[in-house]
Amino acid sequence: THQVHIIGGGMAGSEAAWQLARRGIRVRLSEMRGGGDTTAAHNSDGLAELVCSNSFRSDDDEKNAVGLLHYEMRQCDSLLMAAAAKARVPAGSALAVDRDVFSAEVEAALRAQPTLELVRERVDALPSEGLTIVATGPLTAPTLANSIGSATGADSLAFFDAIAPIVYRDSINMDVAWMASRWDKGAEASLAMGGDGRDYINCPMNKEQYLAFREELLAGEKTEFKEWEADTPYFDGCMPVEVMAARGVETLRFGPMKPVGLDNPHWATDEHPNGRWPYAVVQLRQDNKLGTLWNMVGFQTKLKHAEQVRVFRTIPGLENAEFARLGGLHRNTFLNSPTLLDRQLRLKSAPHIRFAGQITGCEGYVESGSVGMLAGLMTAAQVAGREWSPPPRTTALGALLAHITGDAEAENYQPMNVNFGLFPPLHDVKKKARKEAYTERAKAEISGWVSTLA
Ligand code: FAD
Repeated sequence: THQVHIIGGGMAGSEAAWQLARRGIRVRLSEMRGGGDTTAAHNSDGLAELVCSNSFRSDDDEKNAVGLLHYEMRQCDSLLMAAAAKARVPAGSALAVDRDVFSAEVEAALRAQPTLELVRERVDALPSEGLTIVATGPLTAPTLANSIGSATGADSLAFFDAIAPIVYRDSINMDVAWMASRWDKGAEASLAMGGDGRDYINCPMNKEQYLAFREELLAGEKTEFKEWEADTPYFDGCMPVEVMAARGVETLRFGPMKPVGLDNPHWATDEHPNGRWPYAVVQLRQDNKLGTLWNMVGFQTKLKHAEQVRVFRTIPGLENAEFARLGGLHRNTFLNSPTLLDRQLRLKSAPHIRFAGQITGCEGYVESGSVGMLAGLMTAAQVAGREWSPPPRTTALGALLAHITGDAEAENYQPMNVNFGLFPPLHDVKKKARKEAYTERAKAEISGWVSTLA
């Protein structure tokens, strides 16, 4: 019999299975594809199928956060990175692969592990006991999703993401934008959280700017829903900003761009020493505890990525905005991990169950694989009765893990790519040298941590 049950043989489940089996731990890996089921995005029965792009994005481990994550995964003997090396195709500085070769390499390496049993079966309920890793991804089968929802509470499991763009704090022009809460309200709550009562970054628009901006939203090129996403509901509070704009000239001004109660001190006059309300305002809210990332409130969107950058940089104060992630709206099953999971990815209410991969609210092949790797390593330590020490917060692995297990803003938790905004900031390093400084610091600290892994 197995010691660990892994549900889902995608990016995360395959990597978790590898980390356990290569340590001699008996694993049952349940994958529903090949057993009569599939998802709306997968095309094969192979393990670790790349459902869309064949790229693991930048392989630059000196200036790029996802490239650094590749580096750190290689240090941990990652199966996905080893298979990618064998399946690699030319793609400049990106790590791109032949998807069939990649999947076949992953599957062959796992099948060669004597302690691993690969079973083509769908699992419909969370096991009531036994160490379990749930890695069923953004398109988790509905039966299992229901079971997860019963364990977590329906409010804590989302079936769609509604991602508003996230901006690096240090790229916002505060000579134009300013910090304030509407009507100065919430000051007490803010003070209790260590704030100073001015919780939002506000970007002001006059009438002309607002009308022009609305036109840009309407005209901007959008991505289409996939056929199977066509029934995506626009829940209250997550309607795309361009859909709201289309409802009427004033709709945004009475919605997310409402200016009332927001005196702009940059517009102060003798007559109005506190400033005046702009015609419309774009608000940004702090997105992580470090204060390095800020999300554009109410700006979930299906505008194409390049259009988002172009259109959102017309917002006063965001002329030079750098985006940690752009907006989107997709089918995506994911948990409110910061509230539900402990620092070891275990469900607080049922600690024999760990979650891994995109269902934890990370986003992307590499991120999902890396969280699968961590779940495997954590479980291996637990089986061996060893103490687990988390990867340093300064590494890509540590930064991503800290984000999803507690540092992210839980109230409106949305999926996240790895990015330097998740790292403890290096304010003293000049902006030009900062990326290298992050990766150098991470590399200096990862090897010591890797040596703690048995
Ligand atoms: P998956 O890789 O999806 O693996 C989950 C596995 O669990 C699947 O094999 C599934 O069959 C299985 N499963 C589900 N339910 C059950 C069950 N009840 N019992 C047994 N098995 C089950 N990321 C990128 O980096 N680049 C992209 O271009 C990209 N494009 C995407 C396009 C689409 C349409 C979607 C949906 C996602 C895309 N992603 C992309 C995100 C990407 O899918 C994930 O980041 C990554 O695959 C997640 O890894 P995972 O292991 O968490 O889930």
